Amino acid sequence: MSCLFVISAPSGAGKTSVIRTLLQTDINVTLSVSYTTRPPRRDEENGRDYFFVDHATFREMQAHGEFLESAEVYGNFYGTSRKWIEETMVAEQDVLLEIDCQGAQQVRELYPQAASIFILPPSMETLKNRLEQRGLDESKTIERRLSAACSETSHLNRFDYVVVNHELETAAQEISCIIRAERLKTIRQLVRQRALLAEFS
Ligand code: 5GP
Repeated sequence: MSCLFVISAPSGAGKTSVIRTLLQTDINVTLSVSYTTRPPRRDEENGRDYFFVDHATFREMQAHGEFLESAEVYGNFYGTSRKWIEETMVAEQDVLLEIDCQGAQQVRELYPQAASIFILPPSMETLKNRLEQRGLDESKTIERRLSAACSETSHLNRFDYVVVNHELETAAQEISCIIRAERLKTIRQLVRQRALLAEFS
């Protein structure tokens, strides 16, 4: 019985770096690659960071029910492949989704056993600095992202876990602990340890 993990965070909270650090450890989870209508940023690769598609393709995929969840975020569309998730979970691999709060809610409804994690930046000031330093957005967009951060954080109590990204390695370690604990839940161990438990019955 594989585990499904959902990670959301306000833009600039450092989610992508935390996940990259996490994936370099031995935690053995597979990160889903989303579809998006957003144009690629410099150093992003099709198939690695996202599958970059045009609006028509995205709408067609949506109409055919190809997305497990999808959402519009900052004027672009994003979606998770239903087929890929189902196949990966059937193959007993644990899956990690890096998606926004709207998508997290849709996944929770479909997979109530999914574990959701919200990453918080250590302060509003740090969030603002990170958005400014990464140089991807104009000041008006940064203001919009900061106000979106407040509304996203208001959904925090729907998440199972909250990790504060004071420091990259520590945040990645905390998520790694969550993943390990989820794997040890009785409901999963009943399946994984079937043979062992049979010895005691
Ligand atoms: P960015 O364009 O900066 O990579 O991502 C913008 C937002 O879209 C982030 O909050 C990211 O987590 C979210 N996002 C990325 N992929 C998906 C997806 O497949 N579904 C949803 N709902 N959100 C996504």
